[in-house]
Order: sequence, then C-alpha cells, then structure tokens
Amino acid sequence: MHAGARLFSLFLSCFLLLATTPDNEPRLSGYSAASSRNERDWEVKFRALPTPQNLRDYMQRLSARPHHVGSPYDKDNAEWMLAKFKEWGLDANIETFDVLFPTPKARVVELVEPTKFTAKLQEPALAIDPTSNQQTEQLPTYNAYSADGDVTAPLVYVNYGIPDDYQKLERMGVSVKGAIVIARYGNSWRGIKPKVAGEHGAVGCLIYSDPADDGYIHGDVFPTGGWRPRDGVQRGSVMDMPVYPGDPLTPGVGATKDAKRLNLKDVKTITRIPVLPISYADAQPLLAAMKGEVAPEGWRGSLPQTYHLGPGPAKVHLKMQSNWDIKPLYDVIVKIPGSANPDEWVVRGNHHDAWVNGAEDPVSGTVVLMEEARSFAALLKQGWKPKRTIIYCAWDGEEPALLGSTEWAENHAQELRRYAVAYINSDANGRGYLSMGGSHTLERFINGVARDIEDPEKKIPVWKRDQLKAIADAKTPEERKEARERPDLRIDALGSGSDWSVFLDHLGVASLDLSYGDEDGGGIYHSIYDDFFWYTHFSDADFSYGRALSQTAGTAVMRLADAELLPYEFTGLADTIHRYLDELQKLLKTQQDEVIERNKEVEEGVFTATADPKKTSVPPPVEEIPPHLNFAPLQNASDALTHSAQRYQNALEKITQNGELRLSPDSLHSLNSKLLESERKLTSPDGLPGRPWFQHLIYAPGVYTGYGVKTIPGVREAIEQKKWKEAEEQIVRAAGALEDEAKLVDSATQELEKEK
Ligand SMILES: [Zn+2]
Repeated sequence: MHAGARLFSLFLSCFLLLATTPDNEPRLSGYSAASSRNERDWEVKFRALPTPQNLRDYMQRLSARPHHVGSPYDKDNAEWMLAKFKEWGLDANIETFDVLFPTPKARVVELVEPTKFTAKLQEPALAIDPTSNQQTEQLPTYNAYSADGDVTAPLVYVNYGIPDDYQKLERMGVSVKGAIVIARYGNSWRGIKPKVAGEHGAVGCLIYSDPADDGYIHGDVFPTGGWRPRDGVQRGSVMDMPVYPGDPLTPGVGATKDAKRLNLKDVKTITRIPVLPISYADAQPLLAAMKGEVAPEGWRGSLPQTYHLGPGPAKVHLKMQSNWDIKPLYDVIVKIPGSANPDEWVVRGNHHDAWVNGAEDPVSGTVVLMEEARSFAALLKQGWKPKRTIIYCAWDGEEPALLGSTEWAENHAQELRRYAVAYINSDANGRGYLSMGGSHTLERFINGVARDIEDPEKKIPVWKRDQLKAIADAKTPEERKEARERPDLRIDALGSGSDWSVFLDHLGVASLDLSYGDEDGGGIYHSIYDDFFWYTHFSDADFSYGRALSQTAGTAVMRLADAELLPYEFTGLADTIHRYLDELQKLLKTQQDEVIERNKEVEEGVFTATADPKKTSVPPPVEEIPPHLNFAPLQNASDALTHSAQRYQNALEKITQNGELRLSPDSLHSLNSKLLESERKLTSPDGLPGRPWFQHLIYAPGVYTGYGVKTIPGVREAIEQKKWKEAEEQIVRAAGALEDEAKLVDSATQELEKEK
C-alpha cells in the first residue's frame, strides 16, 4: 500500500519542481515568487565572496602549532578567531567551560617474552615537514579516557575487535580472558575496541594502524605521498560516547564553574581496561612474536608476515597512566540577530581544537566556517537582513568527546529546544563529491541547495555530480533507476563522530552534516603529520573545495534564515521511515533463517565433520529461533505519517499557487512555531534503553558501532541483541513518536487550509 503512496509523492515532487518563477529558476520552498527572487539575488552575492586565499591564510595561522584542549595555542586560536569576527563587525564572544581532559603521564608498551622489544611510542619529525618537529607542544600518542593500568599478559590478535570477531574467536577456541588484545584500527569507532575487549575479560588493549587500512597498500606514504608512514599513530578518544558524549563529570548539564560534578570513580564512560594506540612499526615485532592458529582470511593485514591469533607466546607489558585534570574550553560564538523572527535560530558549527596541528581535522572545516562569517558580515553591510537569528560556533574540545558543542548546548538546552530551527555542521573537508547527511525533514531542502552549487573542477552542479556518481555506483537496476528518477538524492542518517550529536540526538534539533571528499584519501588522521604541509600537498591544495563548502553551508544557512515558511518536508521522511521499517523486518527474518539453518547443520553434524582435527574448532550452540514480532504499530504509524505528509504537501501547493504565499503574518508565525517542533516530536525525554541522554527515537550512534548510525535504534538494537520483549516495547514507543509527528503535520495542514 505504501508503494502507491510513494508513486504519488514522486508525481507531486516532479510537479513542484516544474513550478518555476518567471525567470525560470525554481521558486524556493517556503518563499513567495518575489521573496524567492530576492533571496536568490543575495545568495548569488554571497557565493562570490569566499576566497581560496583567505582559507589558506587562516589555515596556515590556525595550524601553525599544536592546539589541543588546554594547550596555549588552543586558547590563542580562539582569541584570534574572536578578534577576526569582531574586526569584521560581528557580535562575538567566547563561552568557557571546565571539563575533565586526561593527558598521558606514563606510557609503556614492551614485549617481555619470548624476546625483548620496547615500543618507541613516538612519531619522528621529518625534515621536509616544517611543523612536525614541535615535539614539546605535541600531545604524546595515546587514547584519551583510557583507564589507568599496569598489566603484563599474553597477546591475542582480535582483527578489528568488533563483536563478530569475538564470536569467530570463540568458534576457534581462543579466549581473551586475562590477555592483552591487539586490534587494528578500522571497521568501527575506536572506543568500541577496548569496550568489547573488556567485556570479554581482556586486561589491556593495543590498537595499531595496519598498512592494509590506511598505509602503503593504498598509495605512497608520507612525505612522498599522503598515506600513513610506518611510525604514524592515530590518537583519539576511547570514551564510551554511545552512552553520553561531553564532559564525563557533568552528564546532561553544562560544565560551568558551579555545575554539580560526578566523582571520577563514578564515571561510567571511561574504559575499564588500559588502552594505547601504536604505529605498525611498533606493532610488527609484537605480531611477529605471536604463535597459535593462523588468523582467518580477511583478518590478515598487509604486513610481510603470517598473522597468528595467539594467545602468546608473545607477552606484553602495557602501562598507561593519565593526569586526570580539569581543562578550560573556549567556544567562540557569533550572533547575527534576526530582523523579523529573532526567536528562531539557525545554528552553524565546526570545531577548532585538534589532536596536534590538525590542518585537515578540523582546520579545513574551521576556515570554511570563518569565511562564511566574513562573507555574511560583508552582506550585512550591503543591506542583507536575515529574518531569523544566525549563530556561528567554533567549538573547542570536539576531539576528546564532543566537549565544546555538548557543554554549550546542554547549557542552552531550554532556549535551543524552543528556538532552534536547525544545526548545520561541518568538520574536516577534502576534495571530491558533496556528502550530505542529516535529518530527513531537511532532505529536500539540502538537495535544493546542492543544485545551486558549482563543482569547482567539473563546472557542473555538485548535485548533478553526486547523482551521476550514484548511477555509477548503483549495485542493482532498482538502485540505478532510483538514482535517475527520484527527485531528491537520499541523504545519510547521522550516527555520531562530530558536533551535531547533542543537537540531533539529545535535543531533537533537525541537523545536517556537510563535507566534500572521496578524491583526497590519506592516512595522517590524528597524527603529527596532519598539518599545513600535508594538506597543501595531498588534499584540497588549492582550497577550491573549501570555497565550495563555504558556498554550500552558507547558502543553506541563508536559505533557512530568510524563508517565510520553514522549508521542512515530510514525504521524504515518511518514505525513509518505510525503508527503515522494511530493513527491521528483513533483519529479524534473516536472524530467524540463520538460526534455523545453523541448528539444522549442528544436528546433521556438519561442523564436527568439516572441522580439521588438527585445529581447535568449537561447533556453534543450538539457539532458540527468534520469535515473530508485532510490527503493526510501526506500520500503522508510518502509513499515518505518509498520509499526513502528502496532505501537507497538497495544502502547501494550493496556498502557494501563482507564486504567492497567501498566509497572514499571524498564521505564518503560528505555522513556523509548529514546524519548529517537528524534529522534537521524534524524541522522547526517557531516551533509549540504558542511555537516556540519547533521546532521538529515529537516529542514534550504535552501542557497538560508535560512529555508525542505527536507525530506529531502540528496535534495531533490541533485535540485534536478541532482547525480544524490549523490541516489542520499542516498536510501540517509536510508533508513538511517529504518530505524534503525523498529528503535528496534520495540525500544520489545518492551519494552511484555514487560509484559502
Ligand atoms: Zn574533527
């Protein structure tokens, strides 16, 4: 039944696309013909302003020295940005918070048996790379929020260290109890690796960068090419952010001077075992000293040796101790007050702190944000008057735990829940295709923006380039057909990994995350080599995609800030929810089929007959077949949302006939305040099971994937973790949120219908 509904919405969207203004440009959604033309004029002026030279100059300044949380240059950068914003005539200030940020006091990794080797845990300076020698200011290589510990134990190789890998180890009779695991980076957010290792009884965790994942297999290593050299190490946080991000001591509230703080010993988001990241130069002697079964195919990296699972005989001494200090954060906040609707806020952010010099992560995005602000300042002087309030934020402390954005938004939670229209995020930027992620209520909106941005190399709209790539990448005829015919390109749901998390996941503010990439590549992520030299040789060296990102994000901000009617759109959301629902049903069916088949094979003796008698092999246990679940509440709710979304589109179409937006100022105001609630309706104050900070019932980072998104997470994770009763309860909760959303959309439709 919803297939027909989708067809209808497709027809309607095509119709809307044809409704153009006299000068042949499509009328912007939420605008009258006249205001749309006026907006387009301002946007064209805006897009001419950002310059690659400015981006390059800001980057050279911001990445000149290491600038992690608590470092002198972190504060210096914040003050420099503040001065710049003020110099341009903008109203800016710095908001500070005090957060727990551990830095290393003692780090040891040494092989003690059967031979001796001490890891150097140090990235060497390179003569050709002028900032790589700033060793006194560089944070040592470590994983922030690792537990303190001093352990000596045999080594076990666990591949990427995700739950599936441990299942496979069990089948091969390998236990990590009492062992130190060595996992390779990749395939999950890094914090998942020590978490799962600890849950399986390991006492320590090493994470290394295998050349298969970001090293010489892909291309020449730095400084000849852009890929990770043998001594390159990926720093990074291992805090259990899928429980809650932000300052571990102040969950749910801003880390102000007088905030109530937890005791360190009561914090649940610090790892339970010590963990350190190492280069492959440091990992290779450890891996070479291991014996035991040969690692299965797919587990083997690109080092010139055989990969063994252990345990042992390699025995490792791992020591990690931190200074558990409170450090200040400096969030730089710029406010452009709205001329007509000052109580509706469009928020735009990118972080400014880095692990070391961070030219790519985050400065390539920070400079883009600065250049947008400078261009807006110029437009304001020319007479541009944004209707809504625009807030630009350069966050501190993103790298350790999304600290700056989370503490700021928790501190302003009440206002944000009432006033925030949207949050637009960026982070590291590269070169290539536009990547669009975010709330599906903004899917059509951001597709519209992407149609108006020119790709700097191909000179076609970045939207067109994305579409043609979607056709090239399609795996099935259906996907190809959709890429050709669906009016909007699908945007990705957001998990975690950057500063949108508190806005989307905690507060229910519709969010977008934008970047260019796919044609840059490289392996200097979170190392001392992520610097100006690397960026200007191996990434967006001429800053043309930096300029494109300024144009993209800035246009999105303007278009949201100036619209008469907020341009959220719900048919795309409803269509996406139907897809998620199909996925959930398939997930359950697949689990049922797999258990049935495996049980049958156990009974037939398949596993015992095919196991090599010279190797350890444990047949899988006979499992209970997953029960059928009642998806009806979700099906009914998503059908209701589909209908409501269509009725709203119909009513909107009627009211905007002839290019007029025939709404009285009062109705517009009341409609906008209703629409402002639309993302909030998808949240619940009780949050997700076991992690109440995460309140969005449609999007969340996975408990066992970290960055990776789980959609309709309450239901999906309950099915994955075989919690059947919880799955049924979560179906009802998610359905309730979708019904509330449908009701809100209906009441907006009634408001529109009153007017004709
Ligand atoms: Zn970043």
